[in-house]
Order: sequence, then structure tokens, then C-alpha cells
Amino acid sequence: PYDVLIIGGGPAGASAAIYSARKGIRTGIVADRFGGQILDTLGIENFISVNYTEGPKLAASLEEHVKQYDVDIMNLQRATHLEKKDDFIEITLENGAVLKSKTVILSTGARWRNLGVPGEAEFRNKGVAYCAHCDGPLFEGKHVAVIGGGNSGVEAAIDLAGIVKHVTLFARSGLKADPVLKERIRSLPNVTIIENTKIKEITGTNKVNGIDYIDCDTNETRHLDVEGVFVQIGHVPNTEWLQNIVELNEHGEIKIGKNGATNIPGVFAAGDCTDTPYKQIIISMGSGAIAALGAFDYLIRN
Ligand code: FAD
Repeated sequence: PYDVLIIGGGPAGASAAIYSARKGIRTGIVADRFGGQILDTLGIENFISVNYTEGPKLAASLEEHVKQYDVDIMNLQRATHLEKKDDFIEITLENGAVLKSKTVILSTGARWRNLGVPGEAEFRNKGVAYCAHCDGPLFEGKHVAVIGGGNSGVEAAIDLAGIVKHVTLFARSGLKADPVLKERIRSLPNVTIIENTKIKEITGTNKVNGIDYIDCDTNETRHLDVEGVFVQIGHVPNTEWLQNIVELNEHGEIKIGKNGATNIPGVFAAGDCTDTPYKQIIISMGSGAIAALGAFDYLIRN
């Protein structure tokens, strides 16, 4: 069996693999898509000490760094089940294979819920964005739309209002954010809130130039010129396969302690799939290191 088996090959999993392998213990990593969300990212300007990089380039260097060590990389493999046995943990893959390990690190990441309207996929990274911390500064001085009237939409709109020229916040019905956030957003002079809407299309030619939406009060289609659209309608952890096995919070995120431990002895977790606040590359890498050191500590005590 492995000493450490990591499920997920994004920044968190890669970091956990390197930290584990450097302890000289038998390490494996199973990834549906090695690289994770950064494969879908264009410019990255907040990976500290690197002024600018691009997602696919960072993903390639993650893989290259992991390959410096004796790590079994099982790419394009999906884990479907986890079972705690007496002395080890069993991970079942979609292809039917069963892997055994003394410890497991879950780093399956998350995904942004998509609107599913025309233009969204086409203009991804060309004006369509999902992360205000990441891409906000690219829209300095511009008019942007934020889609989503919950906490994350309102938070993103407040954040962006400090950077861009104007923010139009679209909510499907009324704002569903916490009262203090609603009060704050309504106090900002460069934010317009449009409620009772349905987004129809994100328009553009080679990049975003606007948004078509239905005003649900009148059923009329309207158009607004914007240069960016931030979609904030939900962030979903890739933990469906762990339901009723590992303890999750109400958002489906894996609950972890300070050393990355879950409720199952020997099972640790790191990155965007966990309940740690703020989902970023640098934070995921840090938590991957924590989970690896937590798992190592567990191994030397058991
Ligand atoms: P992920 O990157 O989501 O990786 C998860 C891994 O698990 C993948 O390899 C996936 O294939 C695998 N996996 C999932 N389920 C299974 C399964 N059942 N079995 C096997 N493998 C599985 N952050 C920044 O810091 N700066 C930015 O500029 C930035 N821009 C972003 C732009 C976009 C468009 C997006 C979507 C995100 C951006 N982020 C940015 C956020 C950043 O990408 C994430 O915080 C980070 O990738 C999380 O790393 P992770 O390893 O936890 O998860």
C-alpha cells in the first residue's frame, strides 16, 4: 500500500505530493485532470514572487516539480469511493481499480457554477470571470456586471466597486446577502442593482461588450454595455462522492482541523474542497503542505 495517496492534482494536491515524497514515504497521486482549475485560467498575477504567469504554464511546472520526486502519478483517473478499513484506506477508481493507502489526502478542488447562457463559455477569460480577487484589477476603470445576489455576488460587487468605474449587480429576485453587505452595497455610489432579472446572453465579438437580460417585471429583453461579467452564482466543491463518508459542512466542503485532518483517522484534506475560507492558488498550496505534514505526523504515531 501507499503511505500517502493524494486524490486531486491541482495546486493543493501537487504541493501535498511534493511535501510527502520529500519525507521518503511511498506517495501516489490520482488526478482526474492534473493541473486542476488553473488549466482554465489565463493570467495569474497574485502567485507571490511571480509577477505574471499563465495557468497552463503554472500547471506544467507543477507537474514537472512533482516529477522530480518518486511519486506515482495516475492522471486521468477519477476516484469514486473511499472506505476506511482497519489498517488502511481503500480508494476505488472509476475504472474499478482499488488502491490501498495508510493515509489519504483529499484535494479534489471545486468548480464555479456556470450560468449556462450563450457567450459564457465563448468569452471565458475574454471578459467573463469568476474570481474578483484574481481578475478584478484587469477591469480597472471599466464598467462590469456581477451576476448573483447572494453573499458572494454582493461581496464581489463591493470589492470590484473599489477598482472598476462602475458595477451593475444583477440578481434573479431580491438580494439574498447578509444585511450588513446589503447596506454596504446600497451605500456605494458606483454600483447599480438590478433585481428580478434573468440573464439571456453575454454578448461580444472577440471579447465581452455587453449583456442581454430579461426584466422579469415586464418580460422585456434589455441590453447593457459592459466590458466584464463576473459570474457569482455558486462555488461547488468536488465532494459529491464523499457524501455520508467524510464529514462535510452545509456547502459540501470537507471539514478539517488545523493540521488538515478530517473526521476519519488517516484521512486529510486540503485546498478548495475544504471549509477553509478564501480559495486561491497560494492558499491551496499552503494547505496541501499542511495536510502532507499532518499525514506524516499521523504515520509516525500509528
Ligand atoms: P483544483 O485546482 O480544483 O484541483 C482539483 C484537482 O482534483 C484536479 O486535478 C481535478 O481533476 C481533481 N479531481 C476532482 N475530483 C476528483 C476525483 N473524484 N478523482 C480524482 N481527481 C479529482 N487563484 C489565484 O490564486 N489566482 C488567480 O488568478 C486565479 N484565477 C482563477 C481563474 C479561474 C477561471 C478559476 C476557475 C480559478 C482561479 N483561481 C485563481 C482559483 C484557483 O485556481 C483555485 O483556488 C486552485 O486551483 C485550487 O486548487 P486545488 O488544488 O484545491 O483544486
